[in-house]
Amino acid sequence: MAGKQDLELYDVTIIGGGPAGLYSAFYSGMRDMKTKIIEYNPTLGGKILLYPEKIIWDVGGVPPISGEGLIRNLTEQAMVFEPTIVLNQQIMNLDRLSDGTLLLTSNTGEQHHTRTVILAMGHGIPKMRKLEIEGADRYEVTNLHYTVQELAIFRDKHIVISGGGDSAVDWANALQPLAASVTVVHRREEFGGHERNVLRMKESCHEILTSYELTGLHGSGASVEGVTIKHVETGETRTLELDALIVNHGLTTDLSPMLAWGLELGEYNMPIVDAARQTNIPGVFAAGDLIQYDGKLRLISGALVDGGTAVNSAKRYLDPEAHSQAYVSSHNQKFKEKNKELEQQPVAVK
Ligand SMILES: Cc1cc2nc3c(=O)[nH]c(=O)nc-3n(C[C@H](O)[C@H](O)[C@H](O)COP(=O)(O)OP(=O)(O)OC[C@H]3O[C@@H](n4cnc5c(N)ncnc54)[C@H](O)[C@@H]3O)c2cc1C
Repeated sequence: MAGKQDLELYDVTIIGGGPAGLYSAFYSGMRDMKTKIIEYNPTLGGKILLYPEKIIWDVGGVPPISGEGLIRNLTEQAMVFEPTIVLNQQIMNLDRLSDGTLLLTSNTGEQHHTRTVILAMGHGIPKMRKLEIEGADRYEVTNLHYTVQELAIFRDKHIVISGGGDSAVDWANALQPLAASVTVVHRREEFGGHERNVLRMKESCHEILTSYELTGLHGSGASVEGVTIKHVETGETRTLELDALIVNHGLTTDLSPMLAWGLELGEYNMPIVDAARQTNIPGVFAAGDLIQYDGKLRLISGALVDGGTAVNSAKRYLDPEAHSQAYVSSHNQKFKEKNKELEQQPVAVK
Protein backbone atom coordinates (compact mmCIF):
# COMPACT_ATOMS: atom_id res chain seq x y z
CA MET A 1 0.00 0.00 0.00
CA ALA A 2 1.31 3.46 -0.87
CA GLY A 3 2.33 5.64 2.06
CA LYS A 4 0.78 9.09 2.30
CA GLN A 5 3.94 10.73 0.92
CA ASP A 6 3.46 8.81 -2.36
CA LEU A 7 -0.15 9.83 -2.84
CA GLU A 8 -1.28 12.52 -5.23
CA LEU A 9 -2.99 15.33 -3.33
CA TYR A 10 -6.42 16.37 -4.66
CA ASP A 11 -8.25 19.60 -3.89
CA VAL A 12 -11.60 17.85 -3.67
CA THR A 13 -12.46 14.18 -3.27
CA ILE A 14 -16.11 13.30 -3.72
CA ILE A 15 -17.39 10.13 -2.09
CA GLY A 16 -20.31 8.82 -4.16
CA GLY A 17 -20.97 8.86 -7.90
CA GLY A 18 -24.72 9.58 -7.93
CA PRO A 19 -26.29 12.83 -9.19
CA ALA A 20 -24.88 14.89 -6.28
CA GLY A 21 -21.36 13.53 -6.79
CA LEU A 22 -21.43 13.82 -10.57
CA TYR A 23 -22.62 17.42 -10.58
CA SER A 24 -20.12 18.28 -7.83
CA ALA A 25 -17.35 16.92 -10.06
CA PHE A 26 -18.45 19.10 -12.98
CA TYR A 27 -18.79 22.23 -10.86
CA SER A 28 -15.49 21.55 -9.12
CA GLY A 29 -13.86 21.58 -12.55
CA MET A 30 -15.49 24.95 -13.22
CA ARG A 31 -13.75 26.17 -10.07
CA ASP A 32 -10.34 24.87 -11.21
CA MET A 33 -10.03 22.30 -8.48
CA LYS A 34 -8.24 18.99 -8.93
CA THR A 35 -11.06 16.52 -8.44
CA LYS A 36 -11.58 12.83 -7.76
CA ILE A 37 -14.79 10.80 -7.43
CA ILE A 38 -14.77 7.51 -5.52
CA GLU A 39 -17.73 5.18 -6.06
CA TYR A 40 -18.45 1.76 -4.57
CA ASN A 41 -20.34 0.46 -7.61
CA PRO A 42 -18.64 -0.61 -10.84
CA THR A 43 -20.53 2.17 -12.66
CA LEU A 44 -21.53 5.77 -11.97
CA GLY A 45 -25.15 6.86 -11.54
CA GLY A 46 -26.03 6.23 -7.88
CA LYS A 47 -29.61 5.25 -7.13
CA ILE A 48 -30.68 5.98 -10.72
CA LEU A 49 -29.01 2.67 -11.59
CA LEU A 50 -31.98 1.04 -9.85
CA TYR A 51 -34.48 2.51 -12.33
CA PRO A 52 -32.72 2.77 -15.71
CA GLU A 53 -35.89 2.36 -17.78
CA LYS A 54 -38.15 4.61 -15.71
CA ILE A 55 -38.97 7.99 -17.23
CA ILE A 56 -37.93 10.99 -15.15
CA TRP A 57 -39.92 14.21 -15.61
CA ASP A 58 -38.95 16.42 -12.70
CA VAL A 59 -35.40 17.58 -13.43
CA GLY A 60 -35.46 21.28 -14.34
CA GLY A 61 -34.99 21.98 -18.04
CA VAL A 62 -34.69 18.29 -18.94
CA PRO A 63 -37.55 16.87 -21.01
CA PRO A 64 -38.78 13.40 -19.96
CA ILE A 65 -35.76 11.11 -20.02
CA SER A 66 -35.01 7.52 -19.00
CA GLY A 67 -32.88 6.90 -15.92
CA GLU A 68 -30.22 5.47 -18.21
CA GLY A 69 -30.31 8.60 -20.38
CA LEU A 70 -30.00 10.88 -17.38
CA ILE A 71 -27.01 8.92 -16.04
CA ARG A 72 -25.41 9.26 -19.48
CA ASN A 73 -25.96 13.04 -19.48
CA LEU A 74 -24.83 13.54 -15.87
CA THR A 75 -21.70 11.47 -16.54
CA GLU A 76 -20.89 13.31 -19.76
CA GLN A 77 -21.20 16.62 -17.92
CA ALA A 78 -19.12 15.34 -14.98
CA MET A 79 -16.31 14.35 -17.37
CA VAL A 80 -15.97 17.81 -18.99
CA PHE A 81 -13.03 18.76 -16.74
CA GLU A 82 -11.65 15.19 -16.63
CA PRO A 83 -11.84 14.33 -12.94
CA THR A 84 -10.19 11.15 -11.73
CA ILE A 85 -12.76 8.36 -11.36
CA VAL A 86 -12.20 5.50 -8.92
CA LEU A 87 -14.77 2.69 -9.05
CA ASN A 88 -15.33 -0.43 -6.95
CA GLN A 89 -14.12 1.14 -3.70
CA GLN A 90 -16.09 1.84 -0.56
CA ILE A 91 -14.57 4.50 1.66
CA MET A 92 -14.30 3.10 5.17
CA ASN A 93 -12.18 5.67 7.04
CA LEU A 94 -11.69 9.42 7.04
CA ASP A 95 -8.70 10.71 9.00
CA ARG A 96 -7.10 14.11 9.51
CA LEU A 97 -3.34 14.21 9.02
CA SER A 98 -1.00 16.42 11.04
CA ASP A 99 -0.70 18.91 8.15
CA GLY A 100 -4.49 19.42 8.13
CA THR A 101 -5.13 17.43 4.93
CA LEU A 102 -7.41 14.41 4.89
CA LEU A 103 -6.76 10.76 4.17
CA LEU A 104 -9.49 8.41 2.96
CA THR A 105 -9.05 4.65 3.15
CA SER A 106 -11.19 2.25 1.15
CA ASN A 107 -12.23 -1.36 1.67
CA THR A 108 -9.48 -2.45 -0.74
CA GLY A 109 -6.87 -0.76 1.49
CA GLU A 110 -6.20 1.95 -1.10
CA GLN A 111 -5.71 5.46 0.30
CA HIS A 112 -6.69 8.83 -1.14
CA HIS A 113 -5.10 12.10 -0.07
CA THR A 114 -7.17 15.25 -0.31
CA ARG A 115 -7.53 18.80 0.95
CA THR A 116 -11.33 18.71 1.12
CA VAL A 117 -14.05 16.07 0.92
CA ILE A 118 -17.60 16.19 -0.38
CA LEU A 119 -19.79 13.45 1.04
CA ALA A 120 -22.33 12.51 -1.66
CA MET A 121 -23.20 9.04 -0.43
CA GLY A 122 -26.99 9.16 -0.70
CA HIS A 123 -28.55 6.80 1.80
CA GLY A 124 -25.42 4.66 1.62
CA ILE A 125 -24.73 1.84 -0.75
CA PRO A 126 -28.13 0.84 -2.11
CA LYS A 127 -28.83 -2.86 -2.54
CA MET A 128 -32.11 -4.55 -3.30
CA ARG A 129 -33.40 -6.53 -0.31
CA LYS A 130 -32.76 -10.16 -1.19
CA LEU A 131 -35.14 -13.08 -0.79
CA GLU A 132 -34.12 -15.25 2.14
CA ILE A 133 -35.47 -18.50 0.74
CA GLU A 134 -33.56 -21.68 -0.08
CA GLY A 135 -32.31 -21.58 -3.70
CA ALA A 136 -32.75 -17.83 -4.21
CA ASP A 137 -29.00 -17.22 -4.82
CA ARG A 138 -28.91 -19.88 -7.50
CA TYR A 139 -31.79 -18.40 -9.52
CA GLU A 140 -30.44 -14.85 -9.42
CA VAL A 141 -28.27 -15.62 -12.42
CA THR A 142 -31.25 -16.78 -14.52
CA ASN A 143 -34.85 -15.68 -14.00
CA LEU A 144 -35.09 -14.27 -10.47
CA HIS A 145 -34.75 -10.50 -10.82
CA TYR A 146 -34.39 -7.82 -8.16
CA THR A 147 -34.59 -4.93 -10.65
CA VAL A 148 -35.94 -4.59 -14.17
CA GLN A 149 -32.99 -3.54 -16.28
CA GLU A 150 -34.57 -4.28 -19.67
CA LEU A 151 -38.30 -4.65 -20.33
CA ALA A 152 -37.82 -6.61 -23.57
CA ILE A 153 -36.51 -9.75 -21.86
CA PHE A 154 -39.95 -10.22 -20.25
CA ARG A 155 -41.87 -10.27 -23.55
CA ASP A 156 -44.48 -13.08 -23.72
CA LYS A 157 -43.46 -14.37 -20.29
CA HIS A 158 -45.69 -15.35 -17.38
CA ILE A 159 -44.38 -13.07 -14.64
CA VAL A 160 -44.90 -13.07 -10.89
CA ILE A 161 -43.99 -9.85 -9.06
CA SER A 162 -43.54 -10.04 -5.30
CA GLY A 163 -43.85 -6.66 -3.57
CA GLY A 164 -46.23 -3.75 -3.21
CA GLY A 165 -44.13 -0.59 -3.16
CA ASP A 166 -44.24 2.04 -5.91
CA SER A 167 -41.53 0.30 -7.93
CA ALA A 168 -43.44 -3.01 -7.86
CA VAL A 169 -46.59 -1.21 -9.03
CA ASP A 170 -44.68 0.64 -11.77
CA TRP A 171 -43.02 -2.52 -13.03
CA ALA A 172 -46.36 -4.36 -13.10
CA ASN A 173 -47.86 -1.58 -15.24
CA ALA A 174 -44.83 -1.37 -17.52
CA LEU A 175 -44.66 -5.14 -18.08
CA GLN A 176 -48.35 -5.92 -18.39
CA PRO A 177 -48.70 -4.78 -22.05
CA LEU A 178 -45.87 -6.99 -23.27
CA ALA A 179 -45.95 -9.98 -20.92
CA ALA A 180 -48.13 -13.09 -21.35
CA SER A 181 -49.42 -12.42 -17.82
CA VAL A 182 -48.46 -10.44 -14.71
CA THR A 183 -49.45 -11.69 -11.24
CA VAL A 184 -48.69 -9.50 -8.24
CA VAL A 185 -48.21 -10.99 -4.77
CA HIS A 186 -48.11 -8.62 -1.81
CA ARG A 187 -48.08 -9.32 1.93
CA ARG A 188 -50.36 -6.36 2.72
CA GLU A 189 -53.70 -5.13 1.36
CA GLU A 190 -52.44 -1.63 0.53
CA PHE A 191 -50.03 -0.76 -2.25
CA GLY A 192 -47.55 2.12 -2.38
CA GLY A 193 -47.33 4.61 -5.21
CA HIS A 194 -49.79 6.84 -6.96
CA GLU A 195 -53.45 5.87 -6.56
CA ARG A 196 -53.99 6.06 -10.32
CA ASN A 197 -51.12 3.62 -10.95
CA VAL A 198 -52.42 1.19 -8.32
CA LEU A 199 -55.87 1.28 -9.94
CA ARG A 200 -54.39 0.68 -13.38
CA MET A 201 -52.42 -2.28 -12.05
CA LYS A 202 -55.50 -3.77 -10.39
CA GLU A 203 -57.57 -3.38 -13.56
CA SER A 204 -55.02 -4.68 -16.04
CA CYS A 205 -52.93 -7.37 -14.34
CA HIS A 206 -53.82 -11.04 -14.53
CA GLU A 207 -54.19 -11.51 -10.78
CA ILE A 208 -53.51 -9.46 -7.62
CA LEU A 209 -52.96 -11.62 -4.55
CA THR A 210 -52.86 -9.55 -1.37
CA SER A 211 -52.02 -10.76 2.16
CA TYR A 212 -49.81 -13.46 0.64
CA GLU A 213 -46.05 -13.84 0.97
CA LEU A 214 -43.53 -15.93 -0.91
CA THR A 215 -42.43 -18.97 1.06
CA GLY A 216 -40.89 -21.34 -1.48
CA LEU A 217 -39.17 -21.49 -4.87
CA HIS A 218 -39.48 -24.46 -7.21
CA GLY A 219 -37.30 -25.20 -10.19
CA SER A 220 -35.37 -27.87 -11.96
CA GLY A 221 -31.87 -26.66 -11.29
CA ALA A 222 -31.17 -23.74 -13.61
CA SER A 223 -34.29 -21.61 -13.36
CA VAL A 224 -37.22 -21.00 -11.05
CA GLU A 225 -40.44 -22.44 -12.49
CA GLY A 226 -42.89 -21.79 -9.68
CA VAL A 227 -43.38 -20.31 -6.23
CA THR A 228 -45.34 -21.24 -3.13
CA ILE A 229 -47.20 -18.37 -1.53
CA LYS A 230 -48.82 -18.41 1.90
CA HIS A 231 -51.70 -16.32 3.23
CA VAL A 232 -50.33 -14.28 6.14
CA GLU A 233 -53.48 -14.72 8.28
CA THR A 234 -55.04 -18.06 7.33
CA GLY A 235 -51.80 -19.91 6.45
CA GLU A 236 -53.43 -21.23 3.25
CA THR A 237 -50.85 -21.99 0.56
CA ARG A 238 -50.97 -21.82 -3.23
CA THR A 239 -48.53 -22.60 -6.00
CA LEU A 240 -48.02 -20.29 -8.97
CA GLU A 241 -46.21 -21.29 -12.16
CA LEU A 242 -44.03 -18.70 -13.86
CA ASP A 243 -41.35 -17.91 -16.44
CA ALA A 244 -39.84 -15.01 -14.50
CA LEU A 245 -39.95 -13.86 -10.90
CA ILE A 246 -39.40 -10.22 -9.95
CA VAL A 247 -38.82 -9.52 -6.26
CA ASN A 248 -39.19 -5.93 -5.16
CA HIS A 249 -38.99 -5.94 -1.37
CA GLY A 250 -37.34 -2.55 -1.01
CA LEU A 251 -33.79 -1.42 -0.49
CA THR A 252 -31.22 -1.95 2.18
CA THR A 253 -28.51 0.64 2.54
CA ASP A 254 -25.19 0.74 4.31
CA LEU A 255 -23.82 3.94 5.79
CA SER A 256 -22.17 2.27 8.77
CA PRO A 257 -18.52 3.22 8.06
CA MET A 258 -19.47 6.94 8.14
CA LEU A 259 -20.80 6.69 11.69
CA ALA A 260 -17.23 6.58 13.04
CA TRP A 261 -15.92 9.65 11.19
CA GLY A 262 -16.83 12.17 13.90
CA LEU A 263 -19.67 13.83 12.00
CA GLU A 264 -22.49 15.48 13.87
CA LEU A 265 -25.49 13.38 12.88
CA GLY A 266 -29.20 14.16 13.02
CA GLU A 267 -32.32 12.15 12.29
CA TYR A 268 -31.64 8.81 10.56
CA ASN A 269 -27.89 9.42 11.01
CA MET A 270 -27.92 12.13 8.36
CA PRO A 271 -24.98 14.56 8.72
CA ILE A 272 -26.10 17.99 9.88
CA VAL A 273 -24.97 20.74 7.51
CA ASP A 274 -25.33 24.50 7.47
CA ALA A 275 -26.57 26.54 4.49
CA ALA A 276 -23.09 26.23 2.91
CA ARG A 277 -23.43 22.38 3.10
CA GLN A 278 -20.56 22.37 5.59
CA THR A 279 -20.50 19.57 8.16
CA ASN A 280 -19.05 19.99 11.65
CA ILE A 281 -15.67 18.71 10.35
CA PRO A 282 -13.63 21.51 8.75
CA GLY A 283 -13.02 20.81 5.07
CA VAL A 284 -15.76 18.17 4.88
CA PHE A 285 -18.89 19.20 2.99
CA ALA A 286 -21.93 17.15 1.99
CA ALA A 287 -24.63 17.04 -0.68
CA GLY A 288 -27.68 15.15 -1.89
CA ASP A 289 -29.90 12.57 -0.22
CA LEU A 290 -27.33 12.03 2.54
CA ILE A 291 -28.04 15.31 4.30
CA GLN A 292 -30.82 17.05 6.13
CA TYR A 293 -31.50 20.77 6.53
CA ASP A 294 -34.62 22.90 6.61
CA GLY A 295 -36.20 23.01 3.17
CA LYS A 296 -34.13 20.14 1.74
CA LEU A 297 -35.48 19.11 -1.71
CA ARG A 298 -35.12 15.33 -1.80
CA LEU A 299 -35.00 15.06 -5.59
CA ILE A 300 -32.29 14.82 -8.22
CA SER A 301 -32.62 18.61 -8.72
CA GLY A 302 -32.03 19.15 -4.99
CA ALA A 303 -28.91 16.93 -5.10
CA LEU A 304 -27.51 19.02 -7.96
CA VAL A 305 -28.01 22.30 -6.09
CA ASP A 306 -26.37 20.83 -2.98
CA GLY A 307 -23.42 19.70 -5.11
CA GLY A 308 -22.80 23.19 -6.52
CA THR A 309 -23.11 24.78 -3.08
CA ALA A 310 -20.77 22.23 -1.46
CA VAL A 311 -18.16 22.84 -4.18
CA ASN A 312 -18.33 26.61 -3.68
CA SER A 313 -17.81 26.09 0.04
CA ALA A 314 -14.84 23.78 -0.58
CA LYS A 315 -13.33 26.42 -2.89
CA ARG A 316 -13.69 29.14 -0.25
CA TYR A 317 -12.27 26.80 2.41
CA LEU A 318 -9.13 26.42 0.28
CA ASP A 319 -9.06 30.06 -0.82
CA PRO A 320 -11.08 32.41 1.38
CA GLU A 321 -10.56 35.20 -1.20
CA ALA A 322 -12.23 33.20 -4.00
CA HIS A 323 -15.56 34.33 -5.46
CA SER A 324 -18.60 32.85 -3.81
CA GLN A 325 -19.49 30.96 -7.01
CA ALA A 326 -18.10 30.20 -10.45
CA TYR A 327 -18.57 32.64 -13.30
CA VAL A 328 -21.81 31.65 -15.09
CA SER A 329 -21.19 29.14 -17.89
CA SER A 330 -22.83 31.29 -20.57
CA HIS A 331 -20.12 33.94 -20.09
CA ASN A 332 -17.29 31.74 -18.84
CA GLN A 333 -14.13 31.75 -20.98
CA LYS A 334 -13.49 28.12 -20.04
CA PHE A 335 -16.16 27.09 -22.53
CA LYS A 336 -15.03 29.34 -25.39
CA GLU A 337 -13.30 26.60 -27.40
CA LYS A 338 -15.91 23.99 -26.60
CA ASN A 339 -18.68 26.39 -27.67
CA LYS A 340 -16.97 26.93 -31.02
CA GLU A 341 -17.03 23.18 -31.61
CA LEU A 342 -20.68 22.96 -30.59
CA GLU A 343 -21.62 25.85 -32.85
CA GLN A 344 -20.38 23.74 -35.78
CA GLN A 345 -23.21 21.33 -34.94
CA PRO A 346 -26.14 23.76 -34.66
CA VAL A 347 -28.75 21.03 -34.22
CA ALA A 348 -27.01 19.76 -31.11
CA VAL A 349 -27.16 23.07 -29.22
CA LYS A 350 -30.33 24.74 -30.53
C1 LIG B 1 -37.11 3.98 -7.49
C2 LIG B 1 -36.70 5.43 -7.37
C3 LIG B 1 -37.21 6.35 -8.28
C4 LIG B 1 -36.86 7.71 -8.18
N1 LIG B 1 -37.37 8.60 -9.07
C5 LIG B 1 -36.99 9.91 -9.03
C6 LIG B 1 -37.51 10.86 -9.96
O1 LIG B 1 -38.31 10.54 -10.84
N2 LIG B 1 -37.08 12.16 -9.85
C7 LIG B 1 -36.19 12.57 -8.88
O2 LIG B 1 -35.83 13.75 -8.87
N3 LIG B 1 -35.71 11.67 -7.99
C8 LIG B 1 -36.07 10.37 -8.03
N4 LIG B 1 -35.58 9.48 -7.10
C9 LIG B 1 -34.64 9.98 -6.06
C10 LIG B 1 -33.22 10.18 -6.66
O3 LIG B 1 -32.78 8.98 -7.27
C11 LIG B 1 -32.30 10.60 -5.53
O4 LIG B 1 -32.79 11.80 -4.94
C12 LIG B 1 -30.87 10.85 -6.07
O5 LIG B 1 -30.35 9.68 -6.66
C13 LIG B 1 -29.95 11.31 -4.93
O6 LIG B 1 -28.67 11.46 -5.43
P1 LIG B 1 -27.36 11.35 -4.49
O7 LIG B 1 -26.21 11.56 -5.41
O8 LIG B 1 -27.53 12.22 -3.32
O9 LIG B 1 -27.36 9.86 -3.93
P2 LIG B 1 -27.36 8.44 -4.65
O10 LIG B 1 -28.00 8.52 -6.00
O11 LIG B 1 -27.91 7.50 -3.65
O12 LIG B 1 -25.81 8.12 -4.89
C14 LIG B 1 -24.96 7.86 -3.81
C15 LIG B 1 -23.79 7.01 -4.30
O13 LIG B 1 -22.81 6.94 -3.27
C16 LIG B 1 -22.23 5.63 -3.27
N5 LIG B 1 -21.66 5.39 -1.94
C17 LIG B 1 -22.30 5.37 -0.74
N6 LIG B 1 -21.44 5.17 0.27
C18 LIG B 1 -20.20 5.08 -0.30
C19 LIG B 1 -18.90 4.89 0.21
N7 LIG B 1 -18.66 4.77 1.54
N8 LIG B 1 -17.85 4.81 -0.66
C20 LIG B 1 -18.05 4.93 -2.00
N9 LIG B 1 -19.28 5.13 -2.55
C21 LIG B 1 -20.33 5.21 -1.71
C22 LIG B 1 -23.41 4.73 -3.57
O14 LIG B 1 -22.96 3.48 -4.09
C23 LIG B 1 -24.18 5.56 -4.61
O15 LIG B 1 -23.78 5.25 -5.93
C24 LIG B 1 -35.94 8.13 -7.16
C25 LIG B 1 -35.41 7.19 -6.27
C26 LIG B 1 -35.78 5.86 -6.36
C27 LIG B 1 -35.19 4.86 -5.39
